Amino acid sequence: MIATSLINLSYLIGALAFVWGLRLLSSPDSARRGNTLAAIGMAIAIIATMVQPMAGASNNYGWIMGGMLVGGVVGMASAKKIQMTDMPQMVSIFNGLGGACATVLAMVELMHFYNGTQALGSGQLVIVLLALLIGAISFTGSLLAFAKLQGLVWDNSLTLPKHNLINNVMFIGLIGLTVYLFIQGFSAGVGLAIGVLVLALIYGFSFVIPIGGADMPVVISLLNSFTGLSAAAAGLIYNNQIMLVGGILVGASGTILTVLMCQAMNRSLWSVLLGGFGGGAAAKGQESGDQVAKTVTLNDAAIQLFYSNSVMFVPGYGLAVAQAQKALKELDDLLEANGVDVTYAIHPVAGRMPGHMNVLLAEADVPYPKLKDLDDVNAALPSTDIVVVVGANDVVNPAAKDDPGSPIYGMPVLNVWEAKHVIVLKRSMSPGYAGIQNQLFFHDKTKMLFGDAKDSLQKIVSEVKTL
Ligand code: NDP
Repeated sequence: MIATSLINLSYLIGALAFVWGLRLLSSPDSARRGNTLAAIGMAIAIIATMVQPMAGASNNYGWIMGGMLVGGVVGMASAKKIQMTDMPQMVSIFNGLGGACATVLAMVELMHFYNGTQALGSGQLVIVLLALLIGAISFTGSLLAFAKLQGLVWDNSLTLPKHNLINNVMFIGLIGLTVYLFIQGFSAGVGLAIGVLVLALIYGFSFVIPIGGADMPVVISLLNSFTGLSAAAAGLIYNNQIMLVGGILVGASGTILTVLMCQAMNRSLWSVLLGGFGGGAAAKGQESGDQVAKTVTLNDAAIQLFYSNSVMFVPGYGLAVAQAQKALKELDDLLEANGVDVTYAIHPVAGRMPGHMNVLLAEADVPYPKLKDLDDVNAALPSTDIVVVVGANDVVNPAAKDDPGSPIYGMPVLNVWEAKHVIVLKRSMSPGYAGIQNQLFFHDKTKMLFGDAKDSLQKIVSEVKTL
């Protein structure tokens, strides 16, 4: 009795740690603490589950420890090795493994059911089938998302003619077969369950095929919420409250994140899932006609920045590619020392995953209060002397405001052209993720500084030091 109360208390503490950890994750200042707290909650939950009296469980301690050891070592080694730009792949592969776990658990329960060693009521059978379906879809979907982001698979290389129609037919077939499996109950036999498993695995793969590589963060977030739901279903199967709570939290946060990302790009989830924008999108408006972009020399850029009153940096995906955050902070320090007011404009989808820029800048010790969000930035821009766009493109594209034919029309952007001067650091005139040209580069106020962002920033730093 006391043991059960202690276990329940541990689950409660674990659940509180998850919730509080999530809360702390909402700010870069406290995110590290949030992660640690949630990890401690998870450790408490695992220990409480393992000491729980369960028939036959003691025989499995060797297996459990072995699994934890292998998973812990692989997880720790890959987390240490991973580059910030490769983080979406990492999330995806970890997420896929979560889906695989739920699938294996569900399949084991079904095997016990069909060989007569365990009874499942209708409610339990529904939950087991849900865990099987959602976990399997999430597993193969996440594996393909990983392969696409890692550049192992070309975006359009696997797409079949009428792919979305094939997916819809497959989805309806999968649901139909699962309902049939449920109605047949024990008499369906394990063969049909394996059929559902195989079809769900194929569907997960096929569902991700048409989606552009650059849309993967949205899909990963959606698959993440699927994995959460399958883990919650597994929690119900084993009547394990902490697994249920953890699964629901992952499911809910994944869903919220998916919705927020779609809103920030002004796109419906449906349009992301059908593919098109990004990845394989036609590069609209690449032609710049006879427009010519003006350039600025390193020395001029350094002088302008050093003698201005206010400078706003706009980091984008190129900052992550160039790993230019430390050079940017060094320039910030030099300008601040000369009395320049320096801030950073953070667009909600700058980069390739939510919070991408915040994490990179935190890594370079940029104080969090210097990071301004979209509304504050747009209000401050008309009184800003110089905006320096560092490897950003779509998030500063005026077409989102004034070109109804543009694929990004309606996406909230940073109105950097309202500042007094704009300097853009990028390597070429190539478009960004949306595949469209940017009129900002030809604007009267804009001057381009071509080159790798880190290299350009380091050179500006050297120039500033000579002033
Ligand atoms: P973009 O992808 O629009 O542009 C990035 C720019 O960086 C490119 O134009 C590229 O130009 C430049 N660049 C690349 N490498 C370097 C380098 N080494 N040095 C200097 N510049 C470099 O990025 P944004 O951040 O502006 O926009 C993000 C886009 O991603 C948005 O369209 C958003 O909707 C999308 N997205 C974001 C998600 C998120 O959660 N953050 C999720 C899904 C999509 P060049 O090659 O000429 O150097």
